[in-house]
Amino acid sequence: MFRLFAYTTGRTFGVGLETDDGVFDYTHALEIYQKAKGVATPISANFLQVISEFGFCSGPFIRGVLAESWVKSKLSGLTLKPNYRFETPIARPSKIIAMGRNYHAHIKELKHETPKAPLFFCKSPSAMISHESEIVIPNWLDTRVDHEAELGVVIGKQAKNVTQEEAMSCVAGYTIINDVTARDMQKGDIAAGDPWFRSKSIDTFCPVGPYLVPVEEIPDPHALNIKLTVNGEVRQNANTSAMIFKIPEIIAEISRYLTLEAGDLIATGTPEGVSPIKAGDEIEVSIEGLGTLKNTVVRG
Ligand code: MG
Repeated sequence: MFRLFAYTTGRTFGVGLETDDGVFDYTHALEIYQKAKGVATPISANFLQVISEFGFCSGPFIRGVLAESWVKSKLSGLTLKPNYRFETPIARPSKIIAMGRNYHAHIKELKHETPKAPLFFCKSPSAMISHESEIVIPNWLDTRVDHEAELGVVIGKQAKNVTQEEAMSCVAGYTIINDVTARDMQKGDIAAGDPWFRSKSIDTFCPVGPYLVPVEEIPDPHALNIKLTVNGEVRQNANTSAMIFKIPEIIAEISRYLTLEAGDLIATGTPEGVSPIKAGDEIEVSIEGLGTLKNTVVRG
């Protein structure tokens, strides 16, 4: 099992690789690999976005890097000491597209209609925060704010007008997204016929991570347990098998309208159990194989 992550230690920014044998500096491993392969102009890939765009984050490619004899001989020196800070897996996605109403039980709890085609909207990339960062509810916001646990899809290569059959070849991997929502603001804006963009895009309202798990490592993304706890209490507990529109259909539909670029994120919708969060809460979202995304809530 491989999981990639973006990290910082002091001034160093790099890509880490978690394997069954330990946690390694993948940026450095890649440099050694490229030198061993005689690559004329090796690139130093500090960003997962770059790594995924070049195809360096696929399961088979990582396996090849780790099996290369020069890398193998230096691997113990590439162990990452556990003093790093997680960054968001993708630093600057061109967009974050989120699915609305993609689980029947969630549609029911919010008393919405089931959409006939994938229903999508945008979250601003500036709302992103990393694993173990704080969700800041603005002091002026005194109405309900909800968590929404979601499976995140990371696009690995440009996708325009792709078919459902082609769609998965554009996916680099998966991550976890908490689609934090100013719920009363959203409801009010929808009732007024206004866009609900602002309720989804408040700074810090998009925790993402901790990992990017390569697409090959998750044989069936529509069979993953997804769970969210607040202060240890289970609020959401479902399985991605209950998604109404599956990932190939979502990507094909979005790509009819706009070009998906490498590094773009898609939040695939939340299951039932959304509930209010408040300052002091500790939120954990876990998805099978993808780890646990943890964030605390503060006022500010
Ligand atoms: Mg959502």
